[in-house]
This record gives sequence, C-alpha cells and structure tokens, in this order.
Amino acid sequence: MILYILKGKDHSSLKEKLKSSSASFKFLNLYGKELALAWPDSAVEGITDESVELVVKTKKSYILAGNEWKKDPTVVKVKDVEIGSKRVVVAAGPCAVESMEQTETVAKAVKRAGASLLRGGAYKPRTSPYSFQGLGEEGLKILRKAGDETGLPVVSEILDARDAGAFAKYADMVQIGARNSQNFTLLRDVGKLGKPVLLKRGLGNTVEELIQSAEYVMMEGNGNVVLCERGIRTFEKSTRFTLDIGGMVAGKLMTHLPFCADPSHPAGKRELVHSLALASVAAGADMLLVEVHPRPEVALSDSEQQLTPESFELLMERVKALASVLGRSA
Ligand code: PEP
Ligand code: MN
Repeated sequence: MILYILKGKDHSSLKEKLKSSSASFKFLNLYGKELALAWPDSAVEGITDESVELVVKTKKSYILAGNEWKKDPTVVKVKDVEIGSKRVVVAAGPCAVESMEQTETVAKAVKRAGASLLRGGAYKPRTSPYSFQGLGEEGLKILRKAGDETGLPVVSEILDARDAGAFAKYADMVQIGARNSQNFTLLRDVGKLGKPVLLKRGLGNTVEELIQSAEYVMMEGNGNVVLCERGIRTFEKSTRFTLDIGGMVAGKLMTHLPFCADPSHPAGKRELVHSLALASVAAGADMLLVEVHPRPEVALSDSEQQLTPESFELLMERVKALASVLGRSA
C-alpha cells in the first residue's frame, strides 16, 4: 500500500486519477492530517498529484499504525486522561459489572488508590455459554454512573457492533477483547464509532497481527488506538497465559501507538499480578489494566485473579515508586 500525505483542501484531481486506475483507495483524516491510502502498489505505480506533499511506501503489512510516516509517539486521550505520555495510566475495576453497589465500591477504592480510568465488563466473552454473561446495557449504565460519581472515565468491552449505540452513549473508551482481536468487521465498526479504542492481542496472534488489527480501526479515521498485551497461549501452564513482555517491547518499536499491559489475565491468580504489572511498567508499558473486586472470592468471573482493593492500593504505591525511578509518574 501507498500513503499519500496531502496538502491543501482540494484533492479531487488525485481522486480522479485513483478512480481511473485499478487501485483500491481511501481518503481519510488522521491526527489532523489529510491522507490517501492506495493499494496494491502495482496499481498505484507512478500516480502522483500536485496535492501530494509526501508519498510513503512500506514493505510492511501495515502503514497507518507504522512509524514510517509518523515518528512521534501517539498520545491517546480518553476525556482528560493521556495515554502514551510520561505518566503510566492505570485502568482498574472489576472483571464484570455485577451490581451498582459492587461497581460503586470498587470505583471509589480504585480512585482513592490513584487509578485514572474505571474498567468493567458489561458484555462478557465467556468460554462457556453457561457462565455469567454480564449485565449487558444495564451494566454499561452502572459503569457510567460509577464513573461519573468518581470522575473516572470508563472503558468496557464491546462484543457486537449492534451494541454500538449503547457504547456511544455510555463508554469513554471501547475495548476489543482478545477473542475479537481479528473480528475485522467489528474492528471497522468500532473505528467508525470514533471513541478511543483499547485493542487486545488475540490469544494466538503475533504482535504484527495485532498491529494489523489496529490498522483496520485506523482506516476508518480513528487514530486513538491503544494496543494491549494480555498474554498469549503457549505450552507453559504455570500461568494462565504467557505475558509476552518481549513482544510488547518489540511492538513499541514497530508502531507509534501506545501499549497497555494487562497483568491480570495472564496471571490467572492474584499472587502473580503485582510482579507482572511491575515488570510491564519496567519494560515501558504506557498503561496498565488491572482487575479489582471488592470481594474477589465471590466474583462472578475471574475470581482467582482479581485483586482486593487493599492489594490494589499497595500495587499503586509500587507502580508509583517504580515509575519515579524510571523518570515517569503514575
Ligand atoms: C477483559 O479484560 O475483561 C477480558 C475479557 O480480557 P481478554 O479479552 O484479554 O480475555
Ligand atoms: Mn476478566
């Protein structure tokens, strides 16, 4: 594919040239820049125009998410929270929104401890159809209310584009979970929604595949994507998933997008969560996504890995101490 960085307002003559070629193309605006994408290379060969400021080519399988055209790291804003800057942003909250009381309790606790975003699943992607599936739209409303009461922007996972209206109304950031990481129609639909996106890596996906998934979102003109390392399936059984810290470090060099690490799902047990979180921050994570429940032992999902509010408070102290050693903050 070829990326044209455009100048001026009138791009009609380039559009005409692309129309009369056999290329596929798309005009979009990202980070305040007017762009045109065209592919495959063989169909675009030699096409240029007065409105083109710069032509960017790549041998990679993605271009918008790559750093050939955009060298500066992208900072994703969720309300007034900036992800991808000096500050390590922590999103915390329950695996699943279970009730108003549970969500309010945990929201207050994580806010007090220093979290900047409230997480909580309303639509849960459960392996078994007999497991708790989440409260659906009611869960989103509860999360929104708890977020408003504490002043924390909220992030929640979308499973189905038919719920886009509810996410537009109640969520500040839309999560695409590991199991939908390569649901390409959902990626495009969430791109169109225009909200910041937290895009998780699929259990069996490479980092390059994760970045290509981000490309689907970005092609819709939405550059506010945070990539999330949440562990992959390997032969190792001592943890629930293998947190690929090396993959995250390598990924940060492949893209200008910020990276989040989720220490909870790869840990599978709460005893491991602090160490995985701290290792992720040491390795350069821009954000952490941590599961916290007021009473993890009775949680309706991921009971073993959710932290108590007290344990989360201690984790925040540790994250802040580590961040300051690294010349960052939390
Ligand atoms: C989650 O964060 O609630 C979740 C379901 O995570 P994942 O998609 O990484 O399994
Ligand atoms: Mn969970």
